[in-house]
Amino acid sequence: MSGERVFSGFRVTGEQHIGNYLGAIKNYVALQDSYECIYCAVDVHSLTTLEDARLVGPNSLQSATVMLAAGVDPARSIIFVQSHVPEVIELAEYFAMLTPLSVLTRVPTFKEKVQQQPENVNLGLVGYPVLMAADILTYKAALVPIGIDQEPHLELTREVARKFNNHFGDTFPEPKSVHTETPLIRGLDGQAKMSKSMGNAIPIAATEEETTRLVRSAMTDPQRQRRTDPGRPEVCNVYSLHEVFTPGRTAEIHQQCTTAAIGCVDCKGILADSINETFREFRARHAELNAKPDEVRAILRDGAARARVIAQETLAEVRDRIGLMPA
Ligand code: SF4
Repeated sequence: MSGERVFSGFRVTGEQHIGNYLGAIKNYVALQDSYECIYCAVDVHSLTTLEDARLVGPNSLQSATVMLAAGVDPARSIIFVQSHVPEVIELAEYFAMLTPLSVLTRVPTFKEKVQQQPENVNLGLVGYPVLMAADILTYKAALVPIGIDQEPHLELTREVARKFNNHFGDTFPEPKSVHTETPLIRGLDGQAKMSKSMGNAIPIAATEEETTRLVRSAMTDPQRQRRTDPGRPEVCNVYSLHEVFTPGRTAEIHQQCTTAAIGCVDCKGILADSINETFREFRARHAELNAKPDEVRAILRDGAARARVIAQETLAEVRDRIGLMPA
């Protein structure tokens, strides 16, 4: 254990898929062996894009249940819901005063969102990276596991920390990113990245039957029209998924595909079995926790209480540094 603190906020979505698991959740679990980890369901962030706010509560519980089922261990890590620690909103407001609007409107994800929801370009949307900076810096995290695409956000967090430190004295560390090796998981269409909104995903909590049915619908090599045609694994997404889920058999599958010794139906059957095997333990634990939502709520309450101790300490220091009058 290095003693360094890791912070990460996970999105509050209705349903995580196997791409999310490989891209982030698996990493969350592994980081616990080396660091003090704080994981947060970012429900306030989700309000910038969510159409139906009534889903935020159930989705927060659902997302946290997935994290716990995957192996986030509340005895070693803090897991909680963002809005249960309101100090972060106060810190975001102080940071907002230090962040030029021109910097925020240049952030690539903001530009994307403006395109996606031109009728709802709200203040929260443009301030998203400021709230993210507050999330990370409230806990003075040294490390943040992120994908390459989030690097501009983290750079903005560092800029905010530098600016605050220059104005008010040394208070915040400049967090570093931990880039993890994440395979690109394409969806069942074989084209776009796996995503719930694209409708090309396999939910990690799907049943074995659902998984098998979804895998059966996956696109393969479009040139392989008949069972006797040799296939081209290098252009087939089913094969890419085998590389992740059936790593011990890829040479054999490659050879059988290119010689037409195996058909796509059987090949997909092997893949479905591999995915089901990978997620068997997770799914059993997920079903168990799903049946006990009060247990999950209690874990999140306890996590928020522990997170709040750190947050209150940071905010007391911040108010003092800024020079606000004590209450
Ligand atoms: Fe793809 Fe497998 Fe069919 Fe080959 S046999 S084209 S790898 S699904």
